[in-house]
Amino acid sequence: MLQAAALGAIKLGDATLPMTLSPSSKATFLMDEGGLRIQSIGGRSLGLFGGWTFQIEDRLRWFLENGETLGIQIMSPSGDPWVTSLTIGGKPSRLAVKNGNIASKALSGLINHSTSWTFAHLGNVSLFPDAREVADHHYRTYAATPLTADIPDVTYHGPCLGCGAPKLTREHCTPDWISRDLGVMPVTADIFCGGCNSYFGQEFENPIASSYRAGTLLHPGTRALFSKWAIKTALTLAAASDVSIRQPWMRELRNNTIPKGFEIFAEMGTITDPGYTFAVSHFSAEDQKRGQFLTSFVLGDVSVVVAHAASQLNKIPQLPRIHPSPRPADTRASGQDSSGGLHHKLLSRMTNSQLGFTPSKMKAVTPRQPRGTR
Ligand SMILES: [Zn+2]
Repeated sequence: MLQAAALGAIKLGDATLPMTLSPSSKATFLMDEGGLRIQSIGGRSLGLFGGWTFQIEDRLRWFLENGETLGIQIMSPSGDPWVTSLTIGGKPSRLAVKNGNIASKALSGLINHSTSWTFAHLGNVSLFPDAREVADHHYRTYAATPLTADIPDVTYHGPCLGCGAPKLTREHCTPDWISRDLGVMPVTADIFCGGCNSYFGQEFENPIASSYRAGTLLHPGTRALFSKWAIKTALTLAAASDVSIRQPWMRELRNNTIPKGFEIFAEMGTITDPGYTFAVSHFSAEDQKRGQFLTSFVLGDVSVVVAHAASQLNKIPQLPRIHPSPRPADTRASGQDSSGGLHHKLLSRMTNSQLGFTPSKMKAVTPRQPRGTR
């Protein structure tokens, strides 16, 4: 712990990155023929040792020279990791980033040999342990039409969201039936085990598909089922888009109950564009802890907003509330927003802050045959 104190390290806690955004004010590093040397800034003593020199491989030297950032993790006697970042010249920490898929077979080759890495300051600063209080609310929209698609690169690697089982099967996050009906590319992800996948298919997707096709999706008799399906769809879309969700929510759906605190707003027949679009929200760590959640989607001609807010939204522009009790849409709002515009408004209201937005990038896709034209 003397070393941790000497370097000004802080406890990692539940942050994602084992390094800090702000560099240590107590130490820096340099590289010379002897290897990597960690030394104090301004002649202060680094614990008992004054400084340390390490032999390093050429490849590590390449990353350190280009990134000018060294993340340090120190395990305390009780097993808690403490972390800090040393940078050259006191600049904020940078990470080496590269486009591509983390599951790529070529990954070790890219790490060991590629020189086309970018050294970047990370936009999502809430991943650092010293930036937990920084608000980092933002949202991202995705969409697919029969001719174009911009869908998430799924990175979920956890256990089954429905029951915690380790072995997963491929799940349709955008309902299979809707992508078939509309002839658009689905979002799929390995987030449920076989048992949960078939449970949700039989109990939620099949009856909802029938109601949708019969035009009875929002009828009073379908409300409870629709609500469960809407939350399940919102959670799976969020999980597929790198939003961490509370496992108890999905577990409750798996037990056929509606998790507490959710509000669902929905309407049929508002949109005529073929395909789907959805928006997922990334809240600051603080707000996520408070249970804030917001995902909206338009599938075919049903528009849905699913929110779990610290205080209820009650009314929103355009869409009537379906759950917990029916409420008419907020008519004080003038004009019609696009679904993305509505999402932006709601997220501003939930976080009371200016928002970042990552626009979608539509790419051409090979057309699929919609059902009924075969
Ligand atoms: Zn499961």
